[in-house]
Amino acid sequence: MIRPSQRIIVIGAGPVGLCLSLALAQEGVSVTLIEALGDDNFLEQVPRAGTNHPATLEMYDRVGLYRRLEPRGIVAPVFHYWDRAANELIAAFDHIHLKDDTRFPYVLQCERIKIVEEALQMAKAHPDIDLRLSSTFTHFERNDSGIVAYFVNPAGEIENIAGAYIVGAEGARSIVRKDLDIAFEGFTYSDLTLNIEVAYDFRRHGYAERNYISDPTEWSNLFHWKGPPDRWRVHFPVESSEDQEAICRPEALQARLQGFLPTGRDFDIVGSNLYAVHQRVAKKFRVGRAILAGDAAHVNSPIGAMGMNSGVHDAFNLADKLVKILRGEQDEDILDRYERQRRHVAIQHTQAQTIRNKRLLTEKDPAVRKRNKDELRRTAEDPARARAFLLRASLIESLHEAERIA
Ligand SMILES: Cc1cc2nc3c(=O)[nH]c(=O)nc-3n(C[C@H](O)[C@H](O)[C@H](O)COP(=O)(O)OP(=O)(O)OC[C@H]3O[C@@H](n4cnc5c(N)ncnc54)[C@H](O)[C@@H]3O)c2cc1C
Repeated sequence: MIRPSQRIIVIGAGPVGLCLSLALAQEGVSVTLIEALGDDNFLEQVPRAGTNHPATLEMYDRVGLYRRLEPRGIVAPVFHYWDRAANELIAAFDHIHLKDDTRFPYVLQCERIKIVEEALQMAKAHPDIDLRLSSTFTHFERNDSGIVAYFVNPAGEIENIAGAYIVGAEGARSIVRKDLDIAFEGFTYSDLTLNIEVAYDFRRHGYAERNYISDPTEWSNLFHWKGPPDRWRVHFPVESSEDQEAICRPEALQARLQGFLPTGRDFDIVGSNLYAVHQRVAKKFRVGRAILAGDAAHVNSPIGAMGMNSGVHDAFNLADKLVKILRGEQDEDILDRYERQRRHVAIQHTQAQTIRNKRLLTEKDPAVRKRNKDELRRTAEDPARARAFLLRASLIESLHEAERIA
């Protein structure tokens, strides 16, 4: 039996905060979810993450979110590695190799903005979720019975609310993490990533819905999103010394796209942005009754689509443990296991793989490039090796490994 006074305060209605809130509330836990954005601007966020791996789809399904997302996304069983200079398809990986490992042997291309839109509607409809939109969390205090979170409400007043635990799911600039003085260890890449969204069907040139394209000078990623209008996201590297304003001018974006795929006709560009890429993991994921999840705890390069996915995995892992603690089935120490499991995944899987993925796309040495390409080809052609590769790439292996951590 969970008492309503055992409230969990979740900061941030991103994919992680929303999944956590839904998973807790569906087990009878009272949640207060505090989000700085309001109904007027919630959908104005850039689309960001969009590739949802099989294990994440299983978790969405558990809270009833998957069926709302599938119609808004693209089911994509296959992804490609290309060599840009040679215009050559190196390897195609088919998630069908995971048919005995998951009910969802594919990724769902569905952007973060659609995920939070659907999950927010579910949160609004749930009687156990006290949703505070247009409310900016400022700090929290600890006392003997729990924590008190302070936020600026829509009227501009400071309000506070008491709870048993607070979860910082408010993204990379987490106030909870900073309040706890937890180091965010790692590094920031010197180059930036340029993201251009284009209404153009790249499949007519042989591309899959999701493509990683290596090149010693200008690597790229290419992903398909469902419209209307259907759009494709193209990533390019940009040196931080380059003039950022000039890079984002329409003629410069056109020139970059024509360099990638010369069509002789202007691309229909529907959006663009430029962002820095960080590889960082919080030194601790938990201090007493304050816990970090998602980007608040770890950030990584989007090459491999692991940031949002591993954040959602944090959310479900944490929800299961908090429910057991509140029901009196387990003591609070199991939150240390949350930290051991999810920090291990962040360092040994998410960080390690995304760093490796970037190295693979940017490798300059021709001999190493050839070796990498041969290896990818051999892996894709051998069903057992392809399955092992996909188990890692889809983070299923990371979940199995975490289960083995005491
Ligand atoms: C261009 C791009 C592409 C990406 N592609 C992928 C991909 O394909 N796959 C993948 O897995 N990951 C990808 N990522 C990473 C992914 O977007 C993040 O890992 C994910 O959004 C993290 O979710 P989150 O809920 O932890 O934090 P966020 O999504 O950052 O959400 C945090 C929420 O907290 C709110 N908030 C912040 N501060 C406060 C405050 N003080 N008070 C109240 N609310 C607050 C914010 O408004 C926001 O709603 C990509 C990232 C970028 C930038």
